[in-house]
Amino acid sequence: MNLDKLLRDNIKNLKAYSSARDEFSGEAMVFLDANENPFNAPYNRYPDPLQRELKDKIAAIKKCPAEQIFLGNGSDEPIDLLFRAFCEPGKDNIVSIDPTYGMYQVAADINNIEIRKVKLKEDYSFSADELLSAADENTKLAFVCSPNNPTANLMDKAEMLKLIQNFNGLVVVDEAYIDFAPGASLLTELPQYPNLVVLQTFSKAWGMAGIRLGMAFASTEIIRIFNKIKYPYNINILTQQKALELIQKESEKNKWVDLLIEERSRLAEQLRSFPFVVKIYPSDANFLLVKMHDARGIYDYLVENGIIVRDRSKVILCDDSLRVTVGSPEENEILIEKLNDLI
Ligand SMILES: *Cc1c(COP(=O)(O)O)cnc(C)c1O
Repeated sequence: MNLDKLLRDNIKNLKAYSSARDEFSGEAMVFLDANENPFNAPYNRYPDPLQRELKDKIAAIKKCPAEQIFLGNGSDEPIDLLFRAFCEPGKDNIVSIDPTYGMYQVAADINNIEIRKVKLKEDYSFSADELLSAADENTKLAFVCSPNNPTANLMDKAEMLKLIQNFNGLVVVDEAYIDFAPGASLLTELPQYPNLVVLQTFSKAWGMAGIRLGMAFASTEIIRIFNKIKYPYNINILTQQKALELIQKESEKNKWVDLLIEERSRLAEQLRSFPFVVKIYPSDANFLLVKMHDARGIYDYLVENGIIVRDRSKVILCDDSLRVTVGSPEENEILIEKLNDLI
């Protein structure tokens, strides 16, 4: 992989916007450089464009240098930036497993990039060789979500490494659900593979979907490209402050994860006993994909009773399946009670 050849020419030649806080980021007595209002501290000040304090904390937790971390407005931002940096609209393409997270398709469509979908096997595993054969000289990115949404399974590590080692573009591994999975994150492989991009998020295990904070981990060269093309102040002060506060409570996050994993098996066990449940797929995430007789009917019944799950029955390889997020013990109990009323 040659990053310079992978990058779009317009991005290579771009002169990034230089904000006041880029040009001077230290401490000072008086700041008169950014046309800010002197009143209403601390919200009157522009936030740190590179979120240095927050990245240092994340670097310690993830054991990854801060220069190899990008923070975005959710994972959606690095996904979009990958397209904008590396994919020439109307010309380049990407490959992705199928079914998977819907944002890759949306980002591809917005950027006018062809997405070549490679169907998972019946057991929801993927083949590196099939993704590689779907690629050609214009394929810039390969997306693999692991654990995958909506199939819930962690992808085989050897297969992932095979893809990373043999693909001529960037391999994007979306680990939004990695905290719920038994296997280790591919983050540890980052030093070996300059074409690896790992996405994680504060939206799931950390319980911070509302503050919109996603992470991308990659080589310093790739992170530099992201920083060059992102909105100058993409993470606002409130989000940075809240994240700094909540990140102190890593043990709380770990407790939540343990509880949700326990609830996941309990919920699966209870769901299994219903006559309309055909199959519960193994889950390495905080949700269950459940195959049912008349999934749509059950979905409608649950909605009528104030319980919303995700109907995935129109998704390839997921016919008649609902995706059920593992909730609190109380929430899961309400779901089971309502389903009990059906039999
Ligand atoms: C939920 C989810 C995300 C998180 O997206 P954010 O924009 O960070 O909230 C990313 N990838 C997958 C596959 C998801 O299911």
